[in-house]
Amino acid sequence: MAGSRPSYDPERIEAVRQAAWAEAGAFETPAPTFGQAAVYVKPSSPFTSGNLHMGHVRDYSIGDAYARFRRARGDAVLFGFGFDAFGLPAEMAAIERGTRPAEWVERCGERMLAQMKRLGFSFDYGRAFYSSDEDQYRWSQWLFLTLLEAGMVYRDDATVDWCDTCRTTLAALQVEDGRCWRCHEPVRLIRRPTWFLRLAPYLEENDRNLERLENWDELSLKTQRYILGRSEGGELDLVGPGGRALTVFTPHPGAAGEARFVLLSPRHPEIDLWAAEPAVAAQLDALRSGGWERSARDASAVPVIDTGAATAAPGGGELPVFVSPIVDARYGPTAALGIPSVDEADEALAARLPRPAGPPLAGRGVDLPQPRPARRYRAYDFSISRQRYWGTPIPVVHCERCGVVPAPVEDLPVRLPRDVEPSGGGNPLAERPDFLETSCPRCGGAARRETDTLDCHFDALWLWVPAAVPPADRGEQMFTHPDLRRWLPSERLVAGNDSGGFVFDQRVVTKALRDIGPFEFLADGEPFAGCLFHEMVVADGRKMSKHLGNVVDPDELVAAHGADTVRLAILYAAGPAKALNWTEGALRFASRFLTGLWEYAHESIEAAPGAPQDPEAAADTAFIRERLGKWCENGLARITADLEQLQMHKAVRNATRLLERIKDYEKRVVKRRDRLDRADHEALLEALALLARVLVPFAPHMAEQLLIELGRVDEDGAPLTGWPVSAMYDSGSAEGASPAAIAQE
Ligand SMILES: [Zn+2]
Ligand SMILES: [Zn+2]
Repeated sequence: MAGSRPSYDPERIEAVRQAAWAEAGAFETPAPTFGQAAVYVKPSSPFTSGNLHMGHVRDYSIGDAYARFRRARGDAVLFGFGFDAFGLPAEMAAIERGTRPAEWVERCGERMLAQMKRLGFSFDYGRAFYSSDEDQYRWSQWLFLTLLEAGMVYRDDATVDWCDTCRTTLAALQVEDGRCWRCHEPVRLIRRPTWFLRLAPYLEENDRNLERLENWDELSLKTQRYILGRSEGGELDLVGPGGRALTVFTPHPGAAGEARFVLLSPRHPEIDLWAAEPAVAAQLDALRSGGWERSARDASAVPVIDTGAATAAPGGGELPVFVSPIVDARYGPTAALGIPSVDEADEALAARLPRPAGPPLAGRGVDLPQPRPARRYRAYDFSISRQRYWGTPIPVVHCERCGVVPAPVEDLPVRLPRDVEPSGGGNPLAERPDFLETSCPRCGGAARRETDTLDCHFDALWLWVPAAVPPADRGEQMFTHPDLRRWLPSERLVAGNDSGGFVFDQRVVTKALRDIGPFEFLADGEPFAGCLFHEMVVADGRKMSKHLGNVVDPDELVAAHGADTVRLAILYAAGPAKALNWTEGALRFASRFLTGLWEYAHESIEAAPGAPQDPEAAADTAFIRERLGKWCENGLARITADLEQLQMHKAVRNATRLLERIKDYEKRVVKRRDRLDRADHEALLEALALLARVLVPFAPHMAEQLLIELGRVDEDGAPLTGWPVSAMYDSGSAEGASPAAIAQE
């Protein structure tokens, strides 16, 4: 008997189940029927790096468990994503390999899709897309023009790193110790026109909505609060030279009378009025060219410029005015009171001001009015253009007569030449007359296309939208398709906690698109009704990196242990809010559990038909079966609650406990009667079928195969994976009797 028992062979089982899913189109997005909840589960959008890493496996294992759970509950589920395929990493990888980014990205994407399928993730693969596809970036261009028209996108000077030898601007990660990554020559900073995304109009609403986001976990809310950087305090109107008004903020309104100087942000809207003196203007310019982003932000080292001017409180008493980027780092592009007596940073600054601070206002008998309540946000507009080849072309032209002119929407897409093999030097787009030369849409004269491309952060602003639109309709109806109303907002975003910036900006743009029109049905302007952020996967307490030689390769793990074991291990190892320190221990645990369950279930299946049928024995053990029924009921309730909260580590723990309970039940029956009666066996198999069903979200291949072998199948032989409503009364198969029913016999 024992010799015929199939041993647990994940490779075989997983291949069979994956083939069955593909054949049945099991994960295609359904059209929701009346009364059915439409649930869009949004995983993170991977960069086309070429390899899934353990962080992806964690992300998708959580999202997949949730998607499978909601499907099992009878909800219509959309589980789809696209690749974040434009950007510097792909361009640099292509330069390194002497290939075209377009080819590199395609190869990486195909490989990653194969890895995802091998892991059994239930994505609707037919909806996958690449942000670098023409059909896709055409809409990034549409979004750019739409935001430009609404005043949410604007052009201004910014500081960028420039390599004279390579004749190109460099991204921060291409500058190593002040030298170019390619030629190792020193890099210098230059000012050049850059495109920016405006955030200010929606900061307050992003802040206010945080109170109402019910299904957001604490980690995700924390990142949103951090990015906002809200300061509560008060503001006062001061008077400068020639009666010029200046509103100043302080987070210490009660101590405003102690103020001794005023600090202006270099990005203050009226900064030029305060830096009118040529010497001051020159210093400000030098500060900007030095790049205040990269300058020391600490109060002991941050640059400070003296405007030479002073401002007075309404009751009199002058305060010297200085300019410093420390204001941006603390309160955004505003003006602030310097109050050394209550503020440590101000105290450090006061000691090194280019001109002495005045005595405290209060000490001079100045009768200062009470500051009115005010609030500031540190979050500020950011640059969205890059001087790189591999990105969405910015759809504007430069005309000598008309200046910067947007391309007409009907002319989109402005195509990116795909046959480019960048060398890292120069700007490939500036060397392509077929791209560069065009005519002005306004005057018809000769014009030049913009050679900057959009940073992939811009593509990401709407990367959560396309999956909700059937691929065939994306060309015409990307932002107007009726399905958008069904799937948006996404019920749950599952992403790493380094995605906070993306999510913040997506929340801003959703509100802009609501006010502009396309997303008017999203009343609160939120793209995600729920959000779960998880920490990263580390090894030996350190970040995984090639340099440290501690990278764990998911492919190797899957080849050695099977997808179910890897998925179960990564879910079990830690709750989402904790960094997951990868160890062999979790893998051993998952492997032992799945192998143990498989063997135990098969022993039970084999033993059942030979069991005697004795009414007296059955009656004698009825109370033990009843207890098993209660354990099952309890386990089901807990696992259901864990899944609703996406606390997969708890759900897995509760599933392993349920198996222990089932084994305990068998021991108790054997202790009382020496053997299991037919009724006892049926109750045991029923409990195992319940366990298999609640395991489907975590170890889908093995759990489904077990259901098949337990006979829990429909008329086509497909496993019955519906989520049990109750362990007592919902057995999942028409013929199967629940433990409670057996107990009553
Ligand atoms: Zn260089
Ligand atoms: Zn023109």
